[in-house]
Amino acid sequence: MKSPTWEIVVGIESHTQLLTKSKIFSGASTAFGAAPNTQASAVDIALPGVLPVLNKAAVELAIRFGLAVGGSISRRSIFARKNYFYPDLPKGYQISQYELPIVTGGELAIELPGGGKTIRLTRAHLEEDAGKSLHELSGSHAVLGQGMTGIDLNRAGTPLLEIVTEPDLRGAQEAVSYARALHALVRWIGICDGNMQEGSFRCDANVSVRKIGDDKLGTRCEIKNLNSFRFMEQAIEFEARRQIELIQDGKSVAQETRLYDSERDETRAMRSKEDAQDYRYFPDPDLLPLVISEQDIERVRAAMPELPTVRFKRFTDALALPASTAKVLIGDRELADYFEQASRQAKPEVVRQTANWIAGSTSARLNNSGMGIAQSPVSPAQLRGLMERIVDGTISGKIAKEVDDAMWAGEGDADTIIEQRGLKQISDSGAIEKMVDEVLAANVKQVADYRAGKEKAFNSLVGQVMQRSQCKANPAQVNEILRRKLKAS
Ligand code: ADP
Ligand code: MG
Repeated sequence: MKSPTWEIVVGIESHTQLLTKSKIFSGASTAFGAAPNTQASAVDIALPGVLPVLNKAAVELAIRFGLAVGGSISRRSIFARKNYFYPDLPKGYQISQYELPIVTGGELAIELPGGGKTIRLTRAHLEEDAGKSLHELSGSHAVLGQGMTGIDLNRAGTPLLEIVTEPDLRGAQEAVSYARALHALVRWIGICDGNMQEGSFRCDANVSVRKIGDDKLGTRCEIKNLNSFRFMEQAIEFEARRQIELIQDGKSVAQETRLYDSERDETRAMRSKEDAQDYRYFPDPDLLPLVISEQDIERVRAAMPELPTVRFKRFTDALALPASTAKVLIGDRELADYFEQASRQAKPEVVRQTANWIAGSTSARLNNSGMGIAQSPVSPAQLRGLMERIVDGTISGKIAKEVDDAMWAGEGDADTIIEQRGLKQISDSGAIEKMVDEVLAANVKQVADYRAGKEKAFNSLVGQVMQRSQCKANPAQVNEILRRKLKAS
């Protein structure tokens, strides 16, 4: 929503489930989709006398994130109890970090139609996820009676990294752009699978409005648990409009927590916003302060994959790829890796051809089929074989599509397919001259049109020669021979 007088201010808190095998304080599995309560250990269901033991892998993933955004890694951080009652929280408190989080600061660059912008991060802290209330009455939960709710504690204790921004975002589009950039980053560095349907990546949006030019921020509302980018955009748009209307009517915005109802496209009050003091935070006496050494940080840094921004720069500088192509390639780390494997130590023309092919044809195939590059039947080496044959003129770009289809159908390497199907480009000038002569003889009118200055007639003649050759004639040669003959005769 654009308005000449109002500015929409947004800050985002994202909950990313960390990709550890076991939970943050117990040995139970974090795998999604198991039968209810089969992955809830004594710790997760809070039996009396149990003690939490911190999972080191979760700490390493949090450090990886901190380094990726240029934040500062706290050498000492504290786990705190955040006390509240809810049926999916059997302990009566969530173990989180409050005063001393594991990561502070850092930033993330986002892309906007008119250029880019850097969003400051406030902090990122480790915490445990809660369980789930199941209100569904169908499928595997059919055992529940009408109007009953079941509690599934499989998710309880799944490690979360909560990533919080400063109120730097202006409007719904910027917020979505940030959420997308963060989503891409956590997947790229391998700390979260990013599966939004399964709840691996969930965002809360804090929204306020103010008159343009005001220094003071308006009162915010927090919209909970947005699990799709589209819903995030719609929820923020709706919420901002609601707040502007309230203020225009002389009322004021109450600070509260709201829920977005996607079916009615509106936000609804859920509860009045609690303050930190309502949670009675205090350091968890069952857990020692988390101490991270310089060596721990260096070990994580050494194992860090090349970051997307760095790889983008390498693709555009060292490999001289166009920015738009490089952007598609770095949209997914596996796709970028695939490109690098396919083009390793190739001639510059082959590198460029490969980049174009993957950003165009390969990406389109993956999008259409909903597959990731990992499932592609065409190996990087096979793609390389095809690219070499285009660049050395054995086949035209058009024939390459046919060869690619055959490779996707599992027919083998490009060379085998070209050989078996007789797809080699015709570069024998005698053969091409013969076809050109035939086409000229059969198209007296177009020849006259061309001589009368109609360039279109020329393209039509080229097309006919190509057709006659079943697309196998070398197009550059066809052009040249045709021009020569048209001039001569
Ligand atoms: P809490 O922990 O209670 O949710 P925080 O003060 O940590 O609150 O802020 C949470 C998020 O709200 C942060 O992303 C912050 O940038 C954002 N935020 C704070 N004040 C405002 C405001 N007036 N308008 C929009 N966002 C805000
Ligand atoms: Mg919050």
